[in-house]
Amino acid sequence: SSPVADVDPEIAKAIDDELVRQQSTLEMIASENFAPVAVMQAQGSVLTNKYAEGYPGRRYYGGCEHVDVIERLAIDRVKALFGAEAANVQPHSGAQANAAAMVALLEPGDTILGLDLAHGGHLTHGMRLNFSGKLYNVVSYHVRESDHRVDMAEVERLAVEHRPRMIVAGWSAYPRQLDFAEFRRIADLVGAYLMVDMAHFAGLVAAGLHPSPVPYADVVTTTTHKTLGGPRGGVILSKAELAKKINSAVFPGQQGGPLEHVIAAKAVAFGIAASAEFRERQERTLAGARILAERLLGADVAAAGATVLTGGTDVHLVLVDLRHSALDGQQGEDRLHRVGITVNRNAVPFDPRPPMVSSGLRIGTPALATRGFDETSFAEVADVIAAALAPELPDADVVALRGRVEKLAAAYPLYPHLAALAGS
Ligand code: PLP
Repeated sequence: SSPVADVDPEIAKAIDDELVRQQSTLEMIASENFAPVAVMQAQGSVLTNKYAEGYPGRRYYGGCEHVDVIERLAIDRVKALFGAEAANVQPHSGAQANAAAMVALLEPGDTILGLDLAHGGHLTHGMRLNFSGKLYNVVSYHVRESDHRVDMAEVERLAVEHRPRMIVAGWSAYPRQLDFAEFRRIADLVGAYLMVDMAHFAGLVAAGLHPSPVPYADVVTTTTHKTLGGPRGGVILSKAELAKKINSAVFPGQQGGPLEHVIAAKAVAFGIAASAEFRERQERTLAGARILAERLLGADVAAAGATVLTGGTDVHLVLVDLRHSALDGQQGEDRLHRVGITVNRNAVPFDPRPPMVSSGLRIGTPALATRGFDETSFAEVADVIAAALAPELPDADVVALRGRVEKLAAAYPLYPHLAALAGS
């Protein structure tokens, strides 16, 4: 038995079931990863008990001497990791990091220019129902229909026409790199702030395998749980002269007490992200995505009318385009679920199907790279995906594909030393 099982067997069982799900399936949701046990241990510590409103050395509560050490380490490490002048490690999530950065630099009613949600942007970049869409006047830029790359000519044209106070660069579903220097040039042209939301590709930047937005942007926001592989949370990096505004927008502007247990886990993750092992893992993440794109462009998937958006990838994910396939996004997601691979359906740009169904799949490699997958194993998983997206999938094929997935899962044990809580 365990403390959770003793107090709450229902929750203990559901946690155990989730552990088994993570261990026995292949996680390919592009925004997910597996946090190291060290990160989870820091997050599950006594730090959860501590109130620490304010910042290190300037708290509104007593007894903060140890959490001050922790938060300072987190700040120093993330600044060093990304070469940033200032960092706020308190945002509870990526969405809250974006909210605080916008509140710090904008007034309600100001114009922001961000990537359209339907073209790969995030909710917080101006979606109608999100705070960003309600508080600000939103103008959206797009990818080109011809090659599905961000149309920088449109960004410039919209910037000149609408004079945004902030340009937001960054994405949740885009398989290529952005031109940060060009975004900076356009922001300067119209006197806008440039905010880069690197939530998805922060781990690649940390490893030096993706251009860094830090030299170009006034503010860089990120989550800590995607490619970065840490606890769920957010961070804001900025130029030194904006730090005061940003700190006050996070606390007291948006949040009360910081989650010092999560901040400790962030500090552990930043330490890991500076290691050679982390870089090697990000290299396998990129190699896996490249192999996946190559294999999916092959004959099997083409037969089903599926293709890969932009014809490949430079990052940790592949976008499968099912607009010309009999399978829609929902059916594709369900097919992969049946063989034990977890992905999410995703609208593709110019998607004729409704968002809840959609015509795309977003498939990412960070979690499998963390599990240890090498190029051979990524090729095998790519072939399983291609086979699962065939025009017809008889039950016997599902069983065979599921067997191949189980073999891969067994070859790369996940959290082998984590004990089941309920002992089931
Ligand atoms: N920014 C981008 C680009 C994202 O993809 C996401 C998450 O999907 C977020 C922000 C929001 O992060 P969170 O879910 O931690 O609020």
